[in-house]
Amino acid sequence: MLLIKQKSIFLFSLLFLTLPQLLLAQGGMWEPAQLKRQETAMKKLGLEIPVEAIYSDSGNSSLNNAVVIFGSGCTGEMISPRGLLLTNNHCGYGTVQALSTPTANYLQQGFWAKSQKDEIPCPGLTVTFVRQIVDVTDQVLSGVNDNMDETTREQKITQNIRNVEKGYSRISGWKAEVKSFYSGNAYRVILKEIFRDVRLVAFPPDGIGQFGGDTDNWMWPQQKGDFAMFRVYANADNKPAEYQPDNVPYKPERYFPINISGYQEGDYVMIYGFPYVTEEYITSFQLNQIQDIAYPIRIDARRAKLAVWESAMRTNPDIALKYAAKYSSVSNGYKKWQGALRGLELNNVQAIKQAYEAKFQEAATLDRENKEASMLLPMMEAVVTGYNNKLRATEYIRETLWGVEALDQAKVLQKVLDIYRSDVDDVRKTDSLKRLQKDLVKFYKNYDAALDQKVFEALLPIYLNQTQEIVPYNLKTQLEKYAGNYNYWAAAVYSNSMIPDARQMTLLLSHSNASDTNRIKSDPMYVIYRMVKDWEGEHITPYKKDYDLRIRRLDREFMKLQLRYNVDHKMFFPDANQTLRLTYGTIQGLQPEGSDRYFYQTTLDEAIPRHDAGINEFNIPQRLRELHATRNFGQWSVNGTVPVNFISVNHTSGGNSGSPAINAKGELIGLNFDRVWDGTMSDHYFDPKRCRNVMVDIRYVLFLTEKFGEAGWLLDEMQIIK
Ligand code: ASP
Repeated sequence: MLLIKQKSIFLFSLLFLTLPQLLLAQGGMWEPAQLKRQETAMKKLGLEIPVEAIYSDSGNSSLNNAVVIFGSGCTGEMISPRGLLLTNNHCGYGTVQALSTPTANYLQQGFWAKSQKDEIPCPGLTVTFVRQIVDVTDQVLSGVNDNMDETTREQKITQNIRNVEKGYSRISGWKAEVKSFYSGNAYRVILKEIFRDVRLVAFPPDGIGQFGGDTDNWMWPQQKGDFAMFRVYANADNKPAEYQPDNVPYKPERYFPINISGYQEGDYVMIYGFPYVTEEYITSFQLNQIQDIAYPIRIDARRAKLAVWESAMRTNPDIALKYAAKYSSVSNGYKKWQGALRGLELNNVQAIKQAYEAKFQEAATLDRENKEASMLLPMMEAVVTGYNNKLRATEYIRETLWGVEALDQAKVLQKVLDIYRSDVDDVRKTDSLKRLQKDLVKFYKNYDAALDQKVFEALLPIYLNQTQEIVPYNLKTQLEKYAGNYNYWAAAVYSNSMIPDARQMTLLLSHSNASDTNRIKSDPMYVIYRMVKDWEGEHITPYKKDYDLRIRRLDREFMKLQLRYNVDHKMFFPDANQTLRLTYGTIQGLQPEGSDRYFYQTTLDEAIPRHDAGINEFNIPQRLRELHATRNFGQWSVNGTVPVNFISVNHTSGGNSGSPAINAKGELIGLNFDRVWDGTMSDHYFDPKRCRNVMVDIRYVLFLTEKFGEAGWLLDEMQIIK
């Protein structure tokens, strides 16, 4: 059951809207409770079912019950009455990598359970169902007023949130989590049921699931089989339970019927899921921070690091396996931010924001209720630009210094010191050390010290070449000890520190005693770590604390007034915050830059000629090439090939990976996995002309499962509509 009651202050803006405006305004990640008010617009665009079938605040029959949070950051959906779950290959990648060994390398060979008993338990993986959403703005803001200083206000809110969560969790038996919406102007509690016995069922190999790799990521066209199947298990009462061999497949309240009759350009399609974070309502000054500071720094640092990793991975299969998941996650942002910068520039979003701010300022000047409103934007500009240098330093430190794995790992040594300094008894100390040891095992399983040393050599110059204002002076002195030579410096640090050596670190944690503190304090990796932390403590942290407090208040006020003035007469949706959202639009093609073709779909015929046995993510398995060569497509043949990917105008974000693509009747036709390059600016600005989300066609998923993976038994438990 799902229930959302929203405060009426957000409803009034709708009154000004006419239907054509709503249609023009494709884009938006709507909270389920907003859908009723969108029904006319959705129907006009093609929706054939009542919105109550998508979401309802009573009963269990609506589709929201089939949409889940997969792991900690993706979306998944139920596709059978026996707990079968569909999500992206890249969402399950870390899990499957952890299950893989050099001899059973599921990333390269794929995995297809031939029966339920073959399914592999995935320790640590969770699947979360959202059972209820309730507006709790009044409770969270009770006892809070605008005259309070920000710290007191936050303390009061934190305490209220704790009480709300405790109360809801006690009554419901579910995990209760309060989330802030509209920059702290509204709050909702989300009740979640979390399943912990999740097993791997189907996983295509890299040459299909990661096909096109980095080259294609965030691009159109693509031909990626970016899917994976897992199964949720429950105890005999159909309730969550820790892994037990005799747990049984979970019976979900709803699962998606699957429509395999296809689609056309212009058809209605919606994406239901858990987008992670967007910043649609920030000022031009904040956008400037992103465009001029954060993204360029991250891009530079990651370019250098990925180049080092990439050359080692190309020639060393052991490193390729160890670094596969890390590489994907670092390069994912690297490429996306470049696309976003491009999109923001091509659309001149700065100018659009400034024009909007001029209108806002006009309304603020006329605001009789709030005499300070006209000062808000100038104040924001001063606060934001005044912080720019601190932001620069923070970004550099995170991306370059903590981008070196061993330097980042120095935090473990810090924890050991903290444990010895704490006045807890020896038993508790040993427990804490044991916990650290567990994390160490995971870390070293995928770590290569020689490679990391090269990353050190590549990243540190990027930071140390910056101005005095953002680099600790004594760090430069360290470098000078090695005559300014980064290679000498790296060699000395890596050969004298314990961190690069798994054995020394394990020994330290298993047999350490208080006398080790001196050894830690003189560890050269720790010395750098401490130096930077101390510098941050003096030059960044106090300013950051102050900035955060100030900007939170200003953001909240700005959002409140944006909602009140509504100078563009539009319907607002809250920024993404990993809560359930629906976005709707139509299937629409695109003419990629440099191409003379406009198209909305790709096929297997386009993937096969790109096969390259020498590059992992272009290495299409022989079996798939054979199926293609003999046109052995079975019932999945469409015009003599198999459709693979397609695009639509839907406002998605990170976290929407694995989200169901649903047709006008509420049936599954695909699986969201990506966006097109310059459309990734949609986290800050959505433009229906440029923004497209990319999906895997469900027919490709089923074709691969049946014909390639020879796991046709899975189709028997699905409800397939022709
Ligand atoms: N690829 C993204 C994800 O991993 C989806 C997106 O940002 O469009 O969630």
